[in-house]
Amino acid sequence: MRHLKSSDLKKTLTRINRKGYKAYKDLKGAYDFGDYLLYIDHVQGDPFASPSRLRVRVNQDVAGFPLDTYSNRSREIALRDYLSRVFYRNIGRFSEGSRGSGKSGLISIDRPGQEILQRSSVLINKEFVEVRFFLGLPARGRSIAGDQAEEMFFKELPAIVRHSLIFRKLDSASLYEHIHTAEDADYLRELLTDLGIVSFVADGSILPRASGTDKRPLKDKKVVPFVCPETLRIEVQLPNRGKVSGMGIHRGITLIVGGGYHGKSTLLDAIMLGIYNHVPGDGRELVVTDPKTVKIRAEDGRRIEKVNISSFISNLPFGQDTVAFCTDNASGSTSQAANIMEALEIGAKVLLIDEDTSATNFMIRDHRMQELVSKDREPITPFIDKARQLYKEYGVSTVLVIGGSGDYFDIADHVICMTEYRPYDFTERAREIAHKYRAERRPEGGTAFGSITERIPLAESLDPRRGQRDVKISTKGLHTIVFGTESVELAALEQLVDPSQTRAIGDAMSYARRYMDGKRTLREVVETVMRDIEERELDVLSPSPKGDYAYFRAFELAAAINRLRTLRMLQKRQ
Ligand code: ADP
Ligand code: MG
Repeated sequence: MRHLKSSDLKKTLTRINRKGYKAYKDLKGAYDFGDYLLYIDHVQGDPFASPSRLRVRVNQDVAGFPLDTYSNRSREIALRDYLSRVFYRNIGRFSEGSRGSGKSGLISIDRPGQEILQRSSVLINKEFVEVRFFLGLPARGRSIAGDQAEEMFFKELPAIVRHSLIFRKLDSASLYEHIHTAEDADYLRELLTDLGIVSFVADGSILPRASGTDKRPLKDKKVVPFVCPETLRIEVQLPNRGKVSGMGIHRGITLIVGGGYHGKSTLLDAIMLGIYNHVPGDGRELVVTDPKTVKIRAEDGRRIEKVNISSFISNLPFGQDTVAFCTDNASGSTSQAANIMEALEIGAKVLLIDEDTSATNFMIRDHRMQELVSKDREPITPFIDKARQLYKEYGVSTVLVIGGSGDYFDIADHVICMTEYRPYDFTERAREIAHKYRAERRPEGGTAFGSITERIPLAESLDPRRGQRDVKISTKGLHTIVFGTESVELAALEQLVDPSQTRAIGDAMSYARRYMDGKRTLREVVETVMRDIEERELDVLSPSPKGDYAYFRAFELAAAINRLRTLRMLQKRQ
């Protein structure tokens, strides 16, 4: 791209001032502002359309980021995340904000939450740092407000850039804290396997959140910081923080028990989000979990396409097939079974299950019920009879919140009891009780777990077009992807945390079609997509640079594909 001078931008703005909004299209191009290059990549069609897409690139001889701020992948991702936050804050400081009609005057950038995620909003390398953001080109009514645009381009933006992208203007202590925090968490995540644990919860962690909708830490005099029981304590040495102690959740089967409202679900939620790194001050910076951990829940109403759920469910009424189970309207138990099988299909190594969001009949069938309803009339083999086999045969661990059934003591390796938000190791006591009061229920469902059947997605069943027109993919918040004419509901994916992940997944669903050749399995397809992203960044998902993508996992991409109601699959022959 040929670089114009910033004075050319000024001239164009003067020329098109007060003209119809479409004349803004003339701005497209790259402009040299001395300290940085401004790219106007996409110009919005009218003041009410989604805002224009811009980039700013500052050369490292001006930006001056020391190599150690991005010398490894952890640091690089954390630095990019940090700069996105600083840029966001400085928009608030230096931009006047909304003025005129529609999105006029707004400057915006992806706003990160409690997680430190790989984002497409900021890139950094030895040559330059680049920021991608949105700008609502200002209008009065439907005509160009050239004077206001000039103010945005020549006053506001330079101030934002100067205070966000030049290293010596930044608070280096806070920047390094961000980087060090992410690096420690990544380091710890790598250690988990050698330690024989699936999750680590550091002493002193603050687990509860401000509210159900506010994911910042609960700030209250009554907050109880996490204290690990002696018997489960593990010490680790981290590159930045040094020695840290905390609770290890061991491989195998762990129960989290305890009275209602004593903090069980809060602990499980923290473990579930330990697949991500958290910002300093979050309280869960050192709650770190195996990246192949999937939260499982019941999700009645979802569609299921040819999933082999026969490990859990067989002999449905009217001979309905459960080896290649299809439904447009799953029940609580069939949806929970399918959610497990689909996670295993993509390679999950740890399942997290909370009784609060489970189907009761999927979790337990007690002695009396076994007497009343014989096994030949009950299609469901409850999870209690499958969890050990799953661990023994496939090495898949489970962490379960279960306050309501002591029958689970028989299959547990560890029992953690939450009492007033403090964990206690009740493994021995639970064992004694299990010995003293023998469970009268009989194990059901055979001696082996059963097979995990891979499936092959058919590209033609994922159609992102709307009628004859172009590909149309959009998202609504965190939980909805509009894919062509279909709406994909993701509310059950509790490990999805950022709408920019949802946006990336929507485009990745379409991108993934190129690998659906009628031979590759869903697992191979999503793994190939993830490899492309690893090699060439989230940018692979879009033909032009997009600033509002965030990292997601293969599990969430597969889960979104699985929830598309038009999806057709073939089962892979065993
Ligand atoms: P349970 O699953 O055992 O019924 P929850 O995990 O839902 O309990 O927690 C109940 C309430 O206690 C929630 O409002 C939660 O925010 C709060 N809470 C959880 N852990 C703590 C803690 N460590 N300190 C203070 N409050 C907490
Ligand atoms: Mg609960």
